[in-house]
Amino acid sequence: MIQIETNKTPKCELEIKKQWCKGCNLCVAACPRSVLALDLLGKIKVVEAEKCIACGLCESTCPDFAIRVIKNA
Ligand code: SF4
Ligand code: SF4
Repeated sequence: MIQIETNKTPKCELEIKKQWCKGCNLCVAACPRSVLALDLLGKIKVVEAEKCIACGLCESTCPDFAIRVIKNA
């Protein structure tokens, strides 16, 4: 079963499917606010959620659909 990790930020929720992440680092490089990083296993993690501006670049950059940006209503 796919496990989904939800990270609340001021403007959105970042949904992460770690099992789908291959650690390519593209989303880390694309994020303009340094919200993301790779953990010791080479999987994506949220390190500075409060800086996220919900721009969606991480989601649109990830080739593996491992990260989803759900904007606050
Ligand atoms: S939505 Fe934008 S600011 Fe937030 S983690 Fe993704 S790329 Fe970074
Ligand atoms: S772009 Fe996708 S696959 Fe690559 S590190 Fe980020 S979440 Fe993982």
